[in-house]
Amino acid sequence: MAAHTETQLLINNKLVSASDNATFDIISPYTGELVAKVPEATPTDVDTAVAAAEAAFPAWSSLSPVERGKPLKNMAELVLSERDELAKLDALAMGRPVSTYFDPNYAAPHFNYFAEAAYPQGHTSLNTPGFLNMSLRQPFGVVAIIIPWNAPLVFFSKKVAPAVAAGNCVVVKSSEKAPLTPWKLSTWIAKCGFPPGVINVLSGHGHIAGAALASHMRVRALSFTGSTRTGRAIQIASAQSNLKKVVFELGGKGPALVFEDADIDQAAIETENSINWNSGQTCMANSRIYVQESVKERFLQAFEKLARRRSMGDPMQKDVNHGPQADRTQFETVRKYIQLGKEVAKDTIDTSTEGEAGESKSLLVHPVIFTDVAEDSKVAKEEIFGPVVMINTFATESEAIQKANDTEFGLYAALYTKDLERAVRVGKKLESGMVGINCTSPTGCWDLPFGGWKGSGTGRESLLDSMEHYLEVKSLYIRAPGIGGIV
Ligand code: NAD
Repeated sequence: MAAHTETQLLINNKLVSASDNATFDIISPYTGELVAKVPEATPTDVDTAVAAAEAAFPAWSSLSPVERGKPLKNMAELVLSERDELAKLDALAMGRPVSTYFDPNYAAPHFNYFAEAAYPQGHTSLNTPGFLNMSLRQPFGVVAIIIPWNAPLVFFSKKVAPAVAAGNCVVVKSSEKAPLTPWKLSTWIAKCGFPPGVINVLSGHGHIAGAALASHMRVRALSFTGSTRTGRAIQIASAQSNLKKVVFELGGKGPALVFEDADIDQAAIETENSINWNSGQTCMANSRIYVQESVKERFLQAFEKLARRRSMGDPMQKDVNHGPQADRTQFETVRKYIQLGKEVAKDTIDTSTEGEAGESKSLLVHPVIFTDVAEDSKVAKEEIFGPVVMINTFATESEAIQKANDTEFGLYAALYTKDLERAVRVGKKLESGMVGINCTSPTGCWDLPFGGWKGSGTGRESLLDSMEHYLEVKSLYIRAPGIGGIV
């Protein structure tokens, strides 16, 4: 068996063990071997990290934006130069194929952008006679950041960069399924020039360190990406503790509508990629596809052909684009939904070859296509987070919209048609934070709001929007007889 990695927590720029020395194991979802022993941060570690962040806050928030930006730029350089190492760590921990590792291309521009963009501004008002009034936008102090496992570097960068650029100090908790890239980043924090306590990075399970952060009285804001279930638990913990500000990017069950006038081949290529990329473990995947009845067979044939062409296997191999599910829990959950789907779908297309499914020691799941699935079934309603898609049909535009919106989620919806009027008409009616027209997820853009309606979240993140989450607003009323007033 290959040597495993031993990681640490980063508290106050010191790499340390958990306060009780407890660790948990990371097992490769492809080989089944031990990959790493990782500290299980305790509530005591959470307290120590929050205290370090609190102590660092006055000096850090007093620096100029240029000074705060310097270490962020150093981090941008490192994530690019160490790309291969980072890719390997996510492949080992959660089976993400190295061939699909785009994350540094996302993270570096985010670190660089916020290194230069932290010039928050308030308003001034002369509208009260005898007063010169103004609003200030100021950092919260200690911000907690809790991230999921499916793209750790992406979530680390999109939250940590704006939070610290705005002058906050942060405690990040990585996911128990993919703690290795956040740990690697934590080993670079001091080298990049972040003073002690500005960025603290903890590993551990949600119900321990995550829950301690969510209910911590000295954490004033919390940014979370993960499941809707956990978002609800954090909302409750916030309400029951200090009503900290919470920002949520949550789960999805995205619809894609394919009208009969669409470019069917393009729609098949893009929707197949959307649901099967990252082995179906993507929040914005179009897991529900609705095809107009007249083009169903053509679409289905094209889609199935593509799904069968996935290159499944060892995520460390450059020619593999479909790795295993992240861990045994994910694997079992997906397989449970596949069983359920067989009961509620008219037809099942399972792309695994005879005898293959279930026998390999790896946690690979071949793409599964369900057609004509009961709309009220769990498979149609719940997020599966695996390479499992339902393909149903519609006759009319209004039926398509009704089916697309019949969900508690609202992250990313897509529609394919050559009729531009219809595209805009339908796009406006879809209850979703993001809508792709003649494109689907993961297509997006970095400077428009990313986030969900309904159970898919409460926040909007982007280069232009994210900073808002990390700033409090204060109105300052200055009595100024002789100065205040419009004239
Ligand atoms: P998860 O909710 O199980 O875990 C996310 C994080 O929350 C982890 O770090 C976990 O340890 C922590 N956590 C768990 N319970 C907690 C608690 N009680 N208090 C505080 N923290 C707790 O989600 P996951 O399985 O890691 O990620 C998959 C989910 O994330 C899917 O639902 C997916 O759709 C969603 N997601 C959403 C987006 C988005 O931008 N909207 C992006 C990626 C993933």
